[in-house]
Amino acid sequence: MRTPNMKVKCPECKEGFDLSVNDYEEDDLLQCPECTVDLVIKVDNGKFKLVTEKEKYFDEEIAEEFGAAEEVEEE
Ligand SMILES: [Zn+2]
Repeated sequence: MRTPNMKVKCPECKEGFDLSVNDYEEDDLLQCPECTVDLVIKVDNGKFKLVTEKEKYFDEEIAEEFGAAEEVEEE
């Protein structure tokens, strides 16, 4: 099986780039290669999504409110 790459897009500069899914997982931190903003990886429907640190904390606050922070929905 070859290494799958996931296309992602920086929420700050809108630049698209590829990430190796073997090298990253949810909640990993990275910097945008274009604008060097700090980003957090989120997994949404099996796809990588990049959010800024600010959005990450916002997401966690929402999750805690509903008491489902660690629950993973399975199809
Ligand atoms: Zn960027």
